[in-house]
Amino acid sequence: MPIWNPECETLPREELEKLQAQRLREVVARTAATVPFYKKKFAEAKVYADDIRSLDDLKRLPFTEKSDLRDNYPFGMFTVPPEQIVRIHASSGTTGKPTVGGYTRADIDIWAEVMARTVTSAGVTSKDVVHNAYGYGLFTGGLGFHLGAEKVGALVIPMSGGLTRRQVMLMEDFGATALTCTPSYSLVMAEEAAEMGVDFKKRMKVRVGIFGAEPWTERMRAEIEAKLGLEAFDIYGLTELIGPGVSVECEQHNGMHIQEDHFLAEIIDPATGEKLPYGEEGELVFTALTKEAMPVIRYRTRDRTRLHAEKCPCGRTTARMEKIMGRTDDMLIVRGVNVFPQLIEKTLLSIEDIEPHYQIVIDRPKDQLDTLEVWVEASPRLFQPIDTRKLDELQNRVKTELAQTLGVSADIKLMGPKSIQRSEGKARRVVDKRDM
Ligand code: AMP
Ligand code: ZN
Repeated sequence: MPIWNPECETLPREELEKLQAQRLREVVARTAATVPFYKKKFAEAKVYADDIRSLDDLKRLPFTEKSDLRDNYPFGMFTVPPEQIVRIHASSGTTGKPTVGGYTRADIDIWAEVMARTVTSAGVTSKDVVHNAYGYGLFTGGLGFHLGAEKVGALVIPMSGGLTRRQVMLMEDFGATALTCTPSYSLVMAEEAAEMGVDFKKRMKVRVGIFGAEPWTERMRAEIEAKLGLEAFDIYGLTELIGPGVSVECEQHNGMHIQEDHFLAEIIDPATGEKLPYGEEGELVFTALTKEAMPVIRYRTRDRTRLHAEKCPCGRTTARMEKIMGRTDDMLIVRGVNVFPQLIEKTLLSIEDIEPHYQIVIDRPKDQLDTLEVWVEASPRLFQPIDTRKLDELQNRVKTELAQTLGVSADIKLMGPKSIQRSEGKARRVVDKRDM
């Protein structure tokens, strides 16, 4: 299988680590000089760019957290003046305010480069027709894939998400050979095709799928491959770093190769912050080595996995990360959108006649998108006697307010007094029935 950039992707590890250390020193110097947040953090930790001689010195640098990005919302983490920013993207955040990522012209070029490596790793070339059903907009998925597929010279169909029947029709008509979307949406497409009487495997030319942006299991991979008749590749990324393009599987499917010349990865113990050796499970932490507009330093992703650095049979020397095993915080990903239970609670409790007893129920019915239900008790006074008009109004209000703050819609079930189970210890607020 071809490799897009053999020079960077098969660099001997010793040389790679030297390059990383040099870039680390540069990015620390640059952020300390331009971002007040970093200047202060580095000074408090008494670490200066000149102190960084090798990757061993990484552990002296302080971590950056999602809350730091929130405190510096929207543009406080940028290293360059606004006129040099050509694009921003964003993903949903904890306070209803999104997490912002900024890009200079050079950052867009880096993104196109790592995404070109990504699609090439899945076997996509200039001969392919890429049906891109990741959302276009502030979400990084759509435009990220678009850049990479275009760079390798493939024909890109910029579908974005939704209108599934039309997607199925156009996939067939335009002869798509590669599908890019979230893993759960790929199953929705297969299901819709079946309902339309379209035999997906027979009628579609799709050979490969590149699926990510949410957790999925090997079982789900097997189901997708069987139903859609394609080879499925896992891809990982996050807005804070660049979007998709941080890591992707090769044809060996033995973990996702990290684009390490741009993104320096480490695993830490989430409790102590101590750096862990290759092979041990912990929290994934990234430093963006080359980004201009908003390079994050030791950013805690809250994603759990393991790293492996042995050379892969595909020829790449870059380290691989295993499938994401879970999170160290309670963030949920529902239909690809980051949802924080605390935000649901905050919104519910700001509404009059809503009681502080609630449960969040998430499910993934077979071959369908995730469902999100919020069960919450309404004030007893609406039940004595029962006031259905007021209850209906209240239900609509909760639904609207939650959709506005979460960016994803939820079904609301208003319950009578004492119908949500009370707990003596920690309340079980979230019931995640998805088999992931
Ligand atoms: P966003 O910035 O909105 O794209 O969200 C990034 C988050 O999505 C990551 O921190 C992960 O928790 C999750 N994510 C992205 N890709 C994957 C993947 N392939 N497997 C599991 N989780 C993923
Ligand atoms: Zn490989």
